[in-house]
Amino acid sequence: MIESNESNGSSRPRLVDDPRAIRHRLKALAKDLWWSWNEIGRRPFAMLDPELWETVRHSPFRLLQQLDPNIYSSRLEEASFRDVAARAIAAHHEYHTRRTWYDANSSPEDPPLRIAYFCSEYAIHESLPQYAGGLGVLAGDHLKSASDLGLPLVGVGLLYQHGYYKQEFRGDGTTRVIYPSIDFETMPLDDTGVRLDCPVGDRTVRVRVWAMSMGRVPLYLLDANLPGNRVEDRALTASLYQGDDDIRLQRQVLLGVGGFRALRLLEEVPTVVHLNEGHAAFAAVERVAEHVRSGQSLEQAMTNVRSSTVFTTHTPVSAGNQRYEPAKVEAMLAPVLDSANLDRDLPTRLGREDPGNQDEPLCMTVLALKLAERVNGVSELHAAVSRDMWKAAYGQSNPDEVPITHVTNGVHTGTWLAPVAERFWRETIGYTGEPLAQDPCWIRAESINRHAFWELRHTLRRRTISFIRRRLAVQSRRRGENPERVVKARRALSDTALTIGFARRFATYKRATLLFHDLDRLAGILANEEYPVQIIFAGKAHPADAEGQAVAQQIHELTHESRFDGRIVLLENYDIEIGRRLTAGCDLWLNTPRRPFEASGTSGMKPTLHGGLNCSIPDGWWVEADDGNNGWTIGDGSEADRPEVQDARDADLLYGLLEHEIIPAFWNRDAAGLPQAWIERALHSVVTIPSFFNTDRMVAQYLKWGYKPASVPA
Ligand SMILES: *Cc1c(COP(=O)(O)O)cnc(C)c1O
Repeated sequence: MIESNESNGSSRPRLVDDPRAIRHRLKALAKDLWWSWNEIGRRPFAMLDPELWETVRHSPFRLLQQLDPNIYSSRLEEASFRDVAARAIAAHHEYHTRRTWYDANSSPEDPPLRIAYFCSEYAIHESLPQYAGGLGVLAGDHLKSASDLGLPLVGVGLLYQHGYYKQEFRGDGTTRVIYPSIDFETMPLDDTGVRLDCPVGDRTVRVRVWAMSMGRVPLYLLDANLPGNRVEDRALTASLYQGDDDIRLQRQVLLGVGGFRALRLLEEVPTVVHLNEGHAAFAAVERVAEHVRSGQSLEQAMTNVRSSTVFTTHTPVSAGNQRYEPAKVEAMLAPVLDSANLDRDLPTRLGREDPGNQDEPLCMTVLALKLAERVNGVSELHAAVSRDMWKAAYGQSNPDEVPITHVTNGVHTGTWLAPVAERFWRETIGYTGEPLAQDPCWIRAESINRHAFWELRHTLRRRTISFIRRRLAVQSRRRGENPERVVKARRALSDTALTIGFARRFATYKRATLLFHDLDRLAGILANEEYPVQIIFAGKAHPADAEGQAVAQQIHELTHESRFDGRIVLLENYDIEIGRRLTAGCDLWLNTPRRPFEASGTSGMKPTLHGGLNCSIPDGWWVEADDGNNGWTIGDGSEADRPEVQDARDADLLYGLLEHEIIPAFWNRDAAGLPQAWIERALHSVVTIPSFFNTDRMVAQYLKWGYKPASVPA
């Protein structure tokens, strides 16, 4: 039942009967990224012009900008369209007015709480390419859950003129890196009107502060591309992670110092600051300086900042923990430090594992560790590795004495759950989508109808394969391959084969090519006509990572070998949409990092929402999720001294698992055609994984452990 929009008398038409009101409300809805995680909110826009919907990358905002007004008017005349639109509008209204989980779990007597969450990238939707990978996905999912739960949280980040690069493969498999220029007019942004002059060394950079609505959560984004700024300064927010150390350092001054000053100008008063990764650690330096400027001693200021800062570290890969020359940092932060009469070398001393070692560079992670009382890794294993990795920074020799705990990552269920699967779970197990619902619905997956479940898996796989075929045909045509290959791309793959997915950044430690260790053995596995198997790859390397790009090229070359042709495919431009499509439909999700470098990983949590299974190295989140019956684990986690040895051993174990367990489990069918053993395992994965590895649980854990109000305002 759709209610009338307002109950102020009977003369007003009901919303479903009021095209003008619908037009007005859809325009407002298109500006709230709530639609990025609520399919009901996207549905009317997708209906308006299905072809344009694809062109605008599923952005309601851009769709309305580009839609032919005549088409819109005639759609509004259709009752069926108005009905779908009214449902979206009602759901959106209900979302913003209902009592939240946080309302129910806090009391007016609690000390005030306002969380400022800093991150250098946010992955929210495929139409907003402002992210590189897992860190951004986690941050986007964090904000979505914070909004769903009703937490008083605001996000802070940068708005990149070119975002992250678009990846294309040339005919020879080498990567073409393309940075499209993004027209901010096509993004659902609001200009807050706030401008600030951020000190960056001996100059100031003028910054514009934009806002995006993520449901109840505002996300503030800083943009330095303003006329009046020097060309180099305008480029500070050009794109993610580009440029040399100097540029990166300045960009991080902008994020930390500029970001915190922007909050002040917006009259946001955070009681706790969450630094998601060390990129924004200078925010804590700015806060120390602010306290000192207001009359506190350095010691008091440090105590106050530490007690109200949460820091999440994300990588055990050394290069991922940025280090800078001390003199450069001192020069860059001089105005901030001088304004409070602080010693210029304060950040450098704090940013060294050994403060007395003049030769040691400043490490952003160490700086954040020392300015945050509450520090966490993103899985239990990662926290243990981090305690050992950073013990010197804490002046400890025993890692057990290092106060780094863990909050294991999750994924935002509504974002990653395919609509067909969502409907299926609603009907079979009473899934409601309510965050942290009292009713543990996933447990009921144990007893659902096996036939119906296998039908769902078929539907999901078929849809994923047809998506891949379309993409392959586009890739092939764009590369100018002969028409035969384009036609072949459209028929590539099978709808019924065991479909293995591997999609993630092509960072070397992730070992995308582990499966290629013994090509003959792999060819043997893929040549079995009785037990068809196919493998889908997608991934981006860092634009400057030649080794990572070589990985993509190696996969590309294999897809052209006749023995792998049609059985291994590589999709270009891995993004949220590809991630969503592959994790929904692949039967098996492969994760082969070199332990212990995958701090958490989250992509493997997404298939489990759809009844897909994981096959993973015991690293990151999987160590906690694996119970022996909800997926497969490659090896026992022992680490060899030499990487080559470890790679050879892990590859051998992986082939063995595929040959003797995974493929037989998938293809052993009963009289009714069902792979009983596979289905039991898949449903056990549904029962054990989504209920914990989600961002609602994660954000609630941050609230309980990390966002406790500090004794004094931040
Ligand atoms: C889920 C997801 C990730 C995270 O993947 P991991 O390799 O498991 O960390 C990265 N990028 C995209 C586009 C994703 O959807």
